[in-house]
Amino acid sequence: MHAESKKGKTRELWRFHGGLHLPDQKELSLQRPLRQASLPKRLVLPLQQHIGAPAQPMVAVGDRVLKGAMIADSASPVTAPLHAPTSGTVVEIGEYPIPHPSGLADLCIVIEPDGLEAWSELPQPISDFRSVDNQTLLQRIRDAGIVGMGGATFPAAVKLNPGKPIKTLIINGAECEPYITCDDRLMRDFADRVVNGARILQQMLQSEECLIAVEDNKPEAILALFQQLGAEETIEVVRIPTLYPSGGEKQLIRILTGREVPSSGLPAQVGVICHNVSTTAAIAEAVLEGRPLISRLVTLSGEGIREPGNFHAPLGILASDLIAQAGGYRGEPQQLILGGPMMGFDLATDRAPLTKGANCLLCLTAKEAPRPEPAKACIRCGRCADVCPANLLPQQLYWYSRAKDLENAQDYNLFDCIECGCCSHVCPSHIPLVQYYRYAKAESWAMEQTRRESELAKQRHDFRVSRLERLEAERKAKLRKKKEALKSKPPVAKKPQAGKDGDEKAAKQAAIEAAMKRAAEKKTKQQLKPKNTQNLTPAQQAQIEAADKRRNSAASNRGQQDSEPSN
Ligand code: SF4
Ligand code: SF4
Repeated sequence: MHAESKKGKTRELWRFHGGLHLPDQKELSLQRPLRQASLPKRLVLPLQQHIGAPAQPMVAVGDRVLKGAMIADSASPVTAPLHAPTSGTVVEIGEYPIPHPSGLADLCIVIEPDGLEAWSELPQPISDFRSVDNQTLLQRIRDAGIVGMGGATFPAAVKLNPGKPIKTLIINGAECEPYITCDDRLMRDFADRVVNGARILQQMLQSEECLIAVEDNKPEAILALFQQLGAEETIEVVRIPTLYPSGGEKQLIRILTGREVPSSGLPAQVGVICHNVSTTAAIAEAVLEGRPLISRLVTLSGEGIREPGNFHAPLGILASDLIAQAGGYRGEPQQLILGGPMMGFDLATDRAPLTKGANCLLCLTAKEAPRPEPAKACIRCGRCADVCPANLLPQQLYWYSRAKDLENAQDYNLFDCIECGCCSHVCPSHIPLVQYYRYAKAESWAMEQTRRESELAKQRHDFRVSRLERLEAERKAKLRKKKEALKSKPPVAKKPQAGKDGDEKAAKQAAIEAAMKRAAEKKTKQQLKPKNTQNLTPAQQAQIEAADKRRNSAASNRGQQDSEPSN
């Protein structure tokens, strides 16, 4: 297979296994030009909008914040800071519904905009990005809070530090899911940002080639990108055939390079790094203008929305506010989906906010999304395996996931499943296969987490035991040394002893005798002390003698009384 790239140049392309041709439904949201979403009354910003550690608030309730100011960050190496999308006041930090398949709430910073759009002081633009070192650019991208905006939400700066030589940089503009057109809109309206971002990334990675891949159902976007390329450009825009899911990272690498990313491996292992076009444009804004990631393009589509289209919207705007700005609901929507109809998930509420990775809000009518028929037993037809772009055996994965046999599911490369939904789409038994895989993955992660925690607890226990053993050994060694030191002292002269008991007895006896001797000496000394009867006058002597006489006669009287019987 060959495709035209750059200006008339052809390039060999490869095909991935499986895939589907789906009705693309993209015209619905491309009928209108890009609209700027107006500021709502409140912006709700989840602290976790990325893969990795959640950011921690740097503001408190009541603080005034300026547009673009960092309001949350973390010291973790895999994280992304969060910035205020507009100026206003932090009115709450609390739990709010977030866009997640679980439908659970999570910690969010709530800002009440003041309508002034007053900017904070932004970092200096780096217009000559070729003159600065990689570390400066990485830090700028990290501080701008940029994550994979195609839905992966992996921090971009971490991905840009692969530690391996990168031969091919791929900018993913495939946008293969039905209904979604925000990347198409971005490439048409902001092709300069995409190409500038690609130049920055190519400079950083020093890749031999940079390919911007766009499906051939987006001719306007391809033309707009072509027009941005200079004569000496090393970047190529490659037109690829429309086939779902050509935008999958591994599938796109296969199409463009023929290389296969190994199971559970990363693209860097085959010398490739992929970034989505929205991420690439955000990187250009961060480097060339100093702007952090505070807004994004998002598609609102489906027959359940009155005026579908693409919006440039601040992060944190609620789905309900965006839908209201798109004319509101048409009738009773059957399904509200975040993302596309194949890989997206149902939103439990339209009170969930727009996050960095959210590219589409779909309101589908009952006609567009009829209720799924009841699942029947697997008939082992093998159609799911025929369309699986990851070359898996979906029916086996289904059996093991259903039986909660997670070990076997992993042996069948559960984690290579990209949840594209091709298998469920073709299954004649209407088995919701992807739901089983999502469940099995979540269970496996939970088990892995438990395993890691118990491993950590065991390490702590082992460390404590070895520390106690070391302390005991040290104590014994000290004692031994002390004894040896005592032994080496010259022996004190002793009476010959019969044995250990004899030694102790003799020592005790000697101590008693010494004490008795000391007491006797003390008494003698006291008796020898001069009494107060010397040098008396004759009168004093007579007084003493009279007193002695009285005492003696009293003593003889008492002796008589004691000898008489009492009555
Ligand atoms: S397509 Fe459905 S019925 Fe056919 S093998 Fe796969 S799971 Fe079974
Ligand atoms: S959802 Fe997973 S198993 Fe099913 S076709 Fe896609 S990659 Fe294959």
